[in-house]
Amino acid sequence: MTDLTITELWVRYAVNGGILDAVQGVSFDVAAGAAVGLVGESGSGKSSLARAVVGITPIAAGSVTVDGRPVVARPGPGGVQMVFQDPIGSLNPSRRVMDLVSEPLRIAGVPRTLRRERAAQMLREVGLDPETFARRRPAQLSGGQAQRVAIGRALLAEPEVLVADEPVSGLDVSVQAGIINLLHRVTVERGMSLLLVSHDLAVVRTLCEAVVVMQHGQVREQGPADRVLAAPRHEYTRELLAAVPTLEAGP
Ligand code: ADP
Ligand code: MG
Repeated sequence: MTDLTITELWVRYAVNGGILDAVQGVSFDVAAGAAVGLVGESGSGKSSLARAVVGITPIAAGSVTVDGRPVVARPGPGGVQMVFQDPIGSLNPSRRVMDLVSEPLRIAGVPRTLRRERAAQMLREVGLDPETFARRRPAQLSGGQAQRVAIGRALLAEPEVLVADEPVSGLDVSVQAGIINLLHRVTVERGMSLLLVSHDLAVVRTLCEAVVVMQHGQVREQGPADRVLAAPRHEYTRELLAAVPTLEAGP
């Protein structure tokens, strides 16, 4: 079983001749098989942290380890995989769904016939009929369908940890729940750890047993989702919760 450990992580950008510390000494764990929600307002450093965790943004200081091993950016199987906010944009527009989903298998050297078989099986698992979708290109998919392709591809890489950065915030409200349920089902079934970045506390409440609250690149509060969302200890968490629109709050 796999534990993701983030220790004193710093992410730094060079901007306008100065530096911007987007993530400032953040530490937390995602226990094996657990789902942790990372919340905070826009610009608080969530994506910078997520990208550093999967190795696509350099780490200025600190470490990210999976079971004590440093995470290395690699396209092949294992390790950490990421699902992005803009599913269509995250897929190579010139490739077909079958090739996009099976890419991790190609990199792993799985023979073509087996690759296509496993990719078709994965498409079914993420709710896409291979007959209908295998030959489409990203532009011929809805946002929700593209996110299913991205999730299927990430799963075929057999990651130990899945990082999802706002995976439903670019999608129609009507398809968000389907994607959230899918993420929940596939990670629980595989005992896979999930780091879910979201500004939507309702989504985090549904999926995550623990929450990390970030503001200005720092952790303000962390703990069990039940406790943090029901009885926040930090003023900033209270503000975030208060900012959530509720259906009851009519005109
Ligand atoms: P969030 O995902 O919580 O909205 P981000 O990690 O995207 O936050 O951004 C945190 C801060 O880092 C913001 O001030 C943002 O403008 C800045 N930032 C993010 N990415 C870059 C980048 N590639 N270069 C320079 N600054 C960046
Ligand atoms: Mg972001």
